Amino acid sequence: MELCDRTASELARLLQKREVSSREITESVFRRMDEREEKINAYITRTRELALKLADQADRRYRHNESLSPLDGIPVAFKDILCTKGIRTTCGSLMLRDYIPPYDATAVEKVLKAGAVLVGKTNMDEFAMGSSTENSAFGPTRNPLDPERVAGGSSGGSAAAVAAGEAIVALGSDTGGSIRLPAAFCGIAGIKPTYGRISRYGLVSYASSLDQVGVLGKSVEDCALMLGIVSGHDKKDATSAHTKTPDFLRSLNKGLKGLRIGLPKEYFVEGLDPGIKERIMAAVSLLEDNGVHIVEISLPHTPYAVATYYLIATAEASSNLARYDGVKFGFRTRENVTDSIMMYELTRSRGLGKEVKRRIMLGTYVLSAGYYDAYYLKAQQVRALIKADFDKAFEEVDCMVTPVSPCLPFRIGEKITEPLQMYLVDIYTASLNLSGLPGMSINCGTIKGLPAGMQIIGKAFDEETVLRVAYGYEKSIYR
Ligand code: GLN
Repeated sequence: MELCDRTASELARLLQKREVSSREITESVFRRMDEREEKINAYITRTRELALKLADQADRRYRHNESLSPLDGIPVAFKDILCTKGIRTTCGSLMLRDYIPPYDATAVEKVLKAGAVLVGKTNMDEFAMGSSTENSAFGPTRNPLDPERVAGGSSGGSAAAVAAGEAIVALGSDTGGSIRLPAAFCGIAGIKPTYGRISRYGLVSYASSLDQVGVLGKSVEDCALMLGIVSGHDKKDATSAHTKTPDFLRSLNKGLKGLRIGLPKEYFVEGLDPGIKERIMAAVSLLEDNGVHIVEISLPHTPYAVATYYLIATAEASSNLARYDGVKFGFRTRENVTDSIMMYELTRSRGLGKEVKRRIMLGTYVLSAGYYDAYYLKAQQVRALIKADFDKAFEEVDCMVTPVSPCLPFRIGEKITEPLQMYLVDIYTASLNLSGLPGMSINCGTIKGLPAGMQIIGKAFDEETVLRVAYGYEKSIYR
């Protein structure tokens, strides 16, 4: 096995024993990129020179027994929506093609302070709007398991990079499923923590009340490791929580016995791929064999989640994206303009892609006088009902198990002309963002070579139970 195919936790142990160097690992990752990037397109920007420099610094620390963390010397990638000081941050958009942030996102800063080696910035749907990474101005990312298919989105580049060994672990963001879906489609693990667990400072805003930073890795242990490093209150983000960060790695080994796990009946209805359903039910019986109690529960407002999500997300996006006006930063049209209105119009027409424009128009509409009460306000009320469903169900169970997506990874081009079909892919993931709850996606088998994802949903700020169940499952299948 190549070094780039190993997990961060394994590599950390090898580094600690000085059996490998960070330079060797980093070179292995870049070799893999040289082999596969042309096809997969997981990256918008690769930072080879910087990475080798950081790797050498890490190796020096290991030689002096001064390693900074278990992530020291480990190659990581960041979704190109997280600001990196001095390294362009495009959000997958022409609008920010040449934008170089003057500061690091807090999550980025924490990972770099832990000694990790930045290997590049990953591809994504423009401004994180999409479920397939086909909405990128830099071309689609292809699924490493089947390059004719999508990698999922919007953090498709991060998921594909980790799955292909082009990074060991990665950061992504999740507004309606953007970490969990690509993790499922690429057969890896990904966690969106509770809203407020990780600082959003330096995460370019899409829909601020839903956006959360999260992590993608080849194993549950890697996700726990990385999550521990990026979590915590940040005074630069007023919505980041004042809760203490638990030792996520310690929670992994608590076992499954006695846990009560809910299966929401509304998540297993028509529209779900029968193969995925079968794999999840098989996983559920394995959990039962390991001492878990399975309880059927109900989340009655589930059918309204997608509509509610797309009203709130577009409303917030229309406001957040107003900043791209050609004045303060980013792209500005070079065409001759006669007044500032024309400059704004041409800049936004040329700089933003089709899906982003659709969202801005939808969002502007639902916020406009006369429609606000009927759409935006109503959506906020339904959001409260969806959250109340979860609160009630969590009185009975410790966590829940559901599918991540109703379908297997689809073909490139298959859904991109049908926005509604694309939106429906978020059916099992968006409710968690509306409720702020943590959710993790792990692989639970394949169907004709295509991976099926299982979602584990936890109570607010109880990522520990989510990780514990995910790890317990992972361990039981490899036993
Ligand atoms: N697919 C959803 C959307 O397009 C979610 C994307 C995300 O989580 N960033 O809005």
